[in-house]
Formats: sequence, C-alpha cells, structure tokens
Amino acid sequence: MSDNYVSIHQSREAAEAHAKLVNAIESLPDPTPCAEVGGDVFFPEGNTQGSYDWHAEKLAVKVCFHCPILGLCADYAIKHEEIGVWGGLSARERRLTRKMLGITLQ
Ligand code: SF4
Repeated sequence: MSDNYVSIHQSREAAEAHAKLVNAIESLPDPTPCAEVGGDVFFPEGNTQGSYDWHAEKLAVKVCFHCPILGLCADYAIKHEEIGVWGGLSARERRLTRKMLGITLQ
C-alpha cells in the first residue's frame, strides 16, 4: 500500500466522519450550544495576545455538556481535530486520549 493511498484513504475517512457530524448537527431541532456561544470561545489557542485562554476553554467545555451530540462530536474530534474544544474535550485531553488509545490523528 503506497503512502498516497494511505493519505487519500485517511482524507476520505475524515471527510465522511465530518459529514456525519454535520448531518447530526443539521438534524437537531435547535442550534448546537457552540453555535449559540460562538467560535472564539471554542478555539482558546487563537485568542488575544498569543496566550492560551484557559477561561475560554473552561467555558467551552461547560457549554458542550449541554449538547445532545456530545459523544458523536467527541468521537469525531479525537480522531480528526487537533485544536479547539470539541465534544467537551480540550485539544490537550484529546491528545492524551489518542496517545492512550494508540489513535493517529487523521
Ligand atoms: S459537543 Fe460541543 S463542540 Fe460539539 S457540537 Fe456540541 S457544543 Fe459544539
């Protein structure tokens, strides 16, 4: 199996997982909590002065716990998202989870 095959295969998997998450979000009767709060809170890495915004991370994690697709979102993000808070997990927590479970970011 060539490296190209692996990378194309992984991209397709990532795209399919993302489509599944988007479909779940679109089928909800109400917007997701993160859509209501706004993206800045969910990406503490990109906030002011180049320093990590721990307050934003804590808030985003709390917001996620009110989300009906928390599990699906966390599962997707552990495998596919490097930064930001997704599924109630920070980037650091997802990195540790990947390491413990032997999962490679796709
Ligand atoms: S679990 Fe959190 S990041 Fe994922 S869709 Fe819900 S509110 Fe948004």
